[in-house]
Amino acid sequence: MTIIKATPSDVAPIPAGCAGPTVPEDKGYLVEEIRGGVYWVSDGVFQAMFLTTGDGVIACDAPPTIGRNYLNAISDVTDEPVTHVIYSHSHSDHIGAAHLFPESVTYVASAETARTLARVDDARRPVPAVTFSDSFRLNVGRQTLLLEDKGPDHEPGNIYIYAPEQKILMKIDVICPGWVPFKDLSHVKDMPGYLKAHDDVLTYDFDVLVAGHVARLGAREDVEVQREYVMDLKAHATEAIETVDISRVFEESGVADPSRPGAGNPWLLFDVYLQTVADQCTQAMLPKWVERLGGADVFTFDHALVVTVQVVARVS
Ligand SMILES: [Zn+2]
Repeated sequence: MTIIKATPSDVAPIPAGCAGPTVPEDKGYLVEEIRGGVYWVSDGVFQAMFLTTGDGVIACDAPPTIGRNYLNAISDVTDEPVTHVIYSHSHSDHIGAAHLFPESVTYVASAETARTLARVDDARRPVPAVTFSDSFRLNVGRQTLLLEDKGPDHEPGNIYIYAPEQKILMKIDVICPGWVPFKDLSHVKDMPGYLKAHDDVLTYDFDVLVAGHVARLGAREDVEVQREYVMDLKAHATEAIETVDISRVFEESGVADPSRPGAGNPWLLFDVYLQTVADQCTQAMLPKWVERLGGADVFTFDHALVVTVQVVARVS
């Protein structure tokens, strides 16, 4: 068995579609108006979004890698104070700088995210005072945001943040514009919900997606391309499960040899089997995807393994 994983010496070139605007080195962050008072802030790896309303700023997420530069970015474009902070989800890599805002701000999140944050009790991520179960319309000044929780995907409570007037959607840690998802399908918590999220994203009338990671904003086409990638993964993993002969894998790999110390270890047997299936899936994926999405040769095997385990366990 050969596991296909890129190393620094043989990694494929980064496709042109991965590139984004240059982050000014002296500042360490980029802030740009997308349209209609909606801005995005990026350090080249993480992204957040904020809106000027005439009555205060609504900040959506607060990644700690951007940290205080988020406040600098806001004050670059407006004198309005931040009045509201919306959490996309509970993960600290996206909201771990939320404590940097004035105490007077109103924190808003899904009820699910609020429950998670109450449990983790992290002073960097204040527990939101305003929560909702399904949907919530936030009107501040001249701006309106529609917040919706459509069920678990990347994690339970990961919401859609939609600016209907500007046709801008923020959905974090599901789509990676230009790239395959981060390792293990971006640490997916709910595979069926994660796959469904690709369809749910496309039900919104938007043409700009703030996806939370990598160098550029997303478009509808990025969602369609990644949906095709994850559907290919599932199809090839299913096909590999149907065609890989488990007893032959045990025989050829020698893991079932009774004279070996590990003989009879079911976890080892299954690990070798799952990796063989994931390897076959990866080999079927790469010719189509390695030049189309960045990092396909880095993370496709990890994604294939996650999908294989899910399909074998009949989760997806
Ligand atoms: Zn996350």
